[in-house]
Amino acid sequence: MNTIFGPVHSRRFGVSLGIDLSPSHKQCNFDCLYCELAPAATVDIQKSTPSVESIITDLQTALQEHSNIDEITLTANGEPTLYPYLKELVSEIDKIKKEKETLILTNSAALVDPKVFETLLALDQVKLSLDAVSTDIFRKIDRPHEKIDLSKLIEAVIAFSEVYKGKLFIEILFVRGLNNTTEEVAKLNAVLHKLQALRVDIGTIDRPPAYPVEGISYGELVDIAQQFDADLPINIASRVHAEFSQSSYSDEEIINTLDKRPLTPEDVEILFDPESAQRLLHMVETKKVEIIERAKLEFYVPRENLQRKRKK
Ligand code: SF4
Repeated sequence: MNTIFGPVHSRRFGVSLGIDLSPSHKQCNFDCLYCELAPAATVDIQKSTPSVESIITDLQTALQEHSNIDEITLTANGEPTLYPYLKELVSEIDKIKKEKETLILTNSAALVDPKVFETLLALDQVKLSLDAVSTDIFRKIDRPHEKIDLSKLIEAVIAFSEVYKGKLFIEILFVRGLNNTTEEVAKLNAVLHKLQALRVDIGTIDRPPAYPVEGISYGELVDIAQQFDADLPINIASRVHAEFSQSSYSDEEIINTLDKRPLTPEDVEILFDPESAQRLLHMVETKKVEIIERAKLEFYVPRENLQRKRKK
């Protein structure tokens, strides 16, 4: 069974070839309400796995066909860190990847295993999911394997962030009525301050979920983004539920909004009416607002905000 898919084009991560470490069926230590795969009992070990040799053979063929990719992404029909030969696989990929970067998309739970922790340190990019920091909410949304302890998981995420030298991304997926409360966002905010993430992507359910749960609207994501402290690198990653809600912003409102939360050009397109967008462009031309790049995405940031940060 071919383990390689793509290339996949992503605004946030560029062009990547994916490696599915569980191509036969879902093998995961979570059974998230929002999973786009069918519901399945959780496991703490993957029993049906492709060999490292077969993956590398598939990857070499794919790399010959698609030379202009940015990343090789380790993912799975389930949780890629449960693949038992991950360390060996990463070491073999390193031998053939040249300038391409390795990326893993993980639910973070296996970071408590020292072997997985060490293996992830060797990757160029790591995206850790952290949907909730309250045990009851975490258990409801992510439906983890019984052996998983949330406080140990959070400790491992913080410890990883302290020593990891690559690009670290955090992803939080919001589910209506569960983790989108002011209290949970405040708790997530406190934990995010302990992490050295390059970017924190916040999103919601974009595809049919495993269980009958609902995502939140783009407007609600914007509200949540504003609840996080302004110095956290929050990015609204989900625009599927972006209702047409353009508003008029005065110069002062533009500066205040961007000071609290830098916005991408896509956010501006959804939130600003044409006159306000024009006012923003004028502010860029007159250097009141700058465009900065953060982990492949562009953000509008007031010049004064940047000057305050540069002085720190
Ligand atoms: S961690 Fe990923 S694969 Fe596993 S249940 Fe959750 S969404 Fe699905």
